[in-house]
This record gives sequence, C-alpha cells and structure tokens, in this order.
Amino acid sequence: MKIGSVGTLFVCLMTFGFPVTVQAQDLGPGFTKVKDGIYVFAPDATTTTCSFVVTQEGVVMIDSCNSPLASRNMLTTIKKVTDKPIVFLIDTETHSDHTANHFIFSPPATIINHEGAAEAMKKEFNPKRAETLAAQSPEMRAALQGYKMITPQIEYKNKTTINLGERTFELIYLKNVHSEADTAIWLPKERVLFAASAANVRRFLNLRPSVVIPDVLASYKLMKSLNPEFVVPGHGPVSTTKIFDEYEGFYTLLLKRVGEMAAQGKSLAEIKKELKMPEYADWHDQNRLGVNIEAAYKSVKK
Ligand SMILES: [Zn+2]
Repeated sequence: MKIGSVGTLFVCLMTFGFPVTVQAQDLGPGFTKVKDGIYVFAPDATTTTCSFVVTQEGVVMIDSCNSPLASRNMLTTIKKVTDKPIVFLIDTETHSDHTANHFIFSPPATIINHEGAAEAMKKEFNPKRAETLAAQSPEMRAALQGYKMITPQIEYKNKTTINLGERTFELIYLKNVHSEADTAIWLPKERVLFAASAANVRRFLNLRPSVVIPDVLASYKLMKSLNPEFVVPGHGPVSTTKIFDEYEGFYTLLLKRVGEMAAQGKSLAEIKKELKMPEYADWHDQNRLGVNIEAAYKSVKK
C-alpha cells in the first residue's frame, strides 16, 4: 500500500532523528506550516505575525510577536519542534508590536535589523508599556518577567545574507515603506518571502509621515521580482504575491483620485472630507483612510 509505505517512511525518519515533521495543527491555533521547518504564527487577520525557521544549526525567528503571552507561547512551540537554540531574530520593522518582546528570546538570539533600527526603537520606547500590560492579568504580569528593551545587536546596510545550516536568508532593506527600518527576508531555495509591513492582508495601513507611496510601490515590484511561492506579511495570515497586487491597485487608484482632486484646486482637508474608496469597503481599519490620503497628497504635490 502506498499510504502505508509513506507512513513507514515517516516513522523511520523520525526514528533516525530527521528534523521537523511536526504538523502545524499540533502546535495550536494560529500556526501555519508553510514548508518543512518554516512555521508562521498569525493569530488573526490584523494582529502582528511572527515566525520561525528551523535549520540544522539552530532557529531563526522573524519578529518577536505582538504580546508577551504570544511570545512565551512561541518559545514553548519552538521547543516542541526542535531542541536547537534560537540563533537569530530578524526584525521586519522597528515598532513595538514586532520588537518589544525581544527579551524573551535574546539571549541567546542575536537580533538583526537595518541601520537606524536601534535609534528608532529608543525614540519610540514607551517606559510605561510593561506596567500598563502587567495590569491586564496575572498571566500577562508573569509573561513580562525580565522585561527590558533590547535593540538589534547587528545592523546591516541595504542588503545582507545569513547562511545558517542548510538555509540562506537574504535580508533586503525596504526604504520608506512603513517604519524607520523595514527588512524583507527572502529564502531563495524555499521561495518563501517575509514581506514586512509594506503590505498586510486587506487592511488600510497606518502610514506614518516617513512613508513614501512611490517607494512602497517600488517595494512591491522588487518583492514580486523574486517570484516567491509564499508571502508572509507583517500582519495577517500567509498569502502570496496577490497581496502586492491588491495594494498596488489600491494605492494607484488612491493616487489617481487624490491627484485629480488636487488638480481641481482642492485642499488636503477638502480631499479628506470628500474622497471615498468604496472598492475597498471590506478592508480592515477603515479609519486609516485619512492618513493614506495624506501620504498620497504628499506624493502628488511633489
Ligand atoms: Zn508597524
């Protein structure tokens, strides 16, 4: 029997200690196994996504999860899959929902992000964060044990490559797409791309003043050119390059509409009041349309 022999093979591999045959459903809600040894934790459509990749020489994490509870759960989950240490933790951005729980993983993990990440994290640091969170529940208080801000020990410039065990991780700086230091992580052999928050999944992004929409569009072009099979966004579940196409469509239409209204002599305030994007009414976080219009206005006025 074919199925039987596959089953036997599976058991043999396990017996000889071959790596990573744990299925995502065994790891609990929110976990997806993208490929052998590549696991993503995306609790829902909008909360911060965090991931880990197992190699023969240790684990590489991508982002440190939204809440200390999720991070503790992540650590437990990693230990279920492998006894190897977490060697690297790569940040896809600087914001605290991706970076505040480094203390749970580092040491031993060495944290990496693009140049400027540590400075931005120090600037954004909220000294009341731990206190406020701890007040939520005794579990949260326990999860915060040992809390402190840990900034990246390694900052690279523009592009770098990490070779760990059998895997290659290409770190690519994405300029002006979301935070002060955004990193996409590309696994060329596995064709899995961790895309930071240049795009999420059907959600209006909170575009800070440093975001430049043409640079965001350029980042989609760049990431699509890698030809990934799977795309893991900074928030939301595992997807494909279709999220880049969707956002490309959204920003292109937004720029067109804002451009036309600006050309009619309308002020930013008027545009923000009048402009609607009904084609995207089912996207999450509709209240962020205003900051999207502001970013588009800045681009068309250049
Ligand atoms: Zn962010």
